[in-house]
Amino acid sequence: MKLRLLSLYPDQMNIYADRGNILFLQHRCEWRGIDFEVTRCGPGEEFDPGEHDLLYMGGGQDRDQKAVARDLIETKQQSMREAKEAGAAILAVCGGYQLLGQSYELEGETIEGLGLVDLKTVREPGPRLIGPVAIEVDLLGHPRTLAGFENHGGRTRLGNCTPLGKVIHGFGNNGEDGFEGVKEDNLIGTYLHGPLLPKNAWLADYLIATGLEHHHGERPLLEPLDDRLEDAAHRAALTAASRG
Ligand code: GLN
Repeated sequence: MKLRLLSLYPDQMNIYADRGNILFLQHRCEWRGIDFEVTRCGPGEEFDPGEHDLLYMGGGQDRDQKAVARDLIETKQQSMREAKEAGAAILAVCGGYQLLGQSYELEGETIEGLGLVDLKTVREPGPRLIGPVAIEVDLLGHPRTLAGFENHGGRTRLGNCTPLGKVIHGFGNNGEDGFEGVKEDNLIGTYLHGPLLPKNAWLADYLIATGLEHHHGERPLLEPLDDRLEDAAHRAALTAASRG
């Protein structure tokens, strides 16, 4: 088996351990004897949606987002749509998450997003939403927790789409409605980083299984790994979130 990951804008959208998230996916595949391939896709580059099983875009400062937004639409929008429709897994974190939606408005300017999901982000007056965060999600048919760290000025509001989870501690999408992230088909957008996957190993395995199903047509049962360190990291992140 082989998992083919596409790393979108690895040099521009990578401020929060995004490289670490990819390394974590790689190790969990390799520890199980699953081949792992990473393809980088930067400004000006197109990609073939049929050749990738898991698309990853990380976080970025407002200026990084401005720098890639137009390129994203010009060179990657159609392929992103096709990949999503074909069931590829997509994970976008923070700045990348915001760019999946219709737009990101800030300081009188509107950055147009990919429009892959029906959500909008606005930089409203008020402090940045910063701190440890924990949410409850139901991706596996039973509730699980994701814990991480958030740091965003933009407030995201969902239109006709479902949140990834409910906020237990922290701010989530906008600090008001109690929702965090987005989930549609096999696409996940979230504000959790710092780093997301090593603290939430079960989510990494969910993404690996979804990507492998996309490539090989069957959802594999992944062999369990020794996750004592990962579980400790998860518990520490959860404790931090509960303390606020
Ligand atoms: N620039 C965006 C914001 O502040 C996203 C930041 C990030 O990726 N952490 O809202």
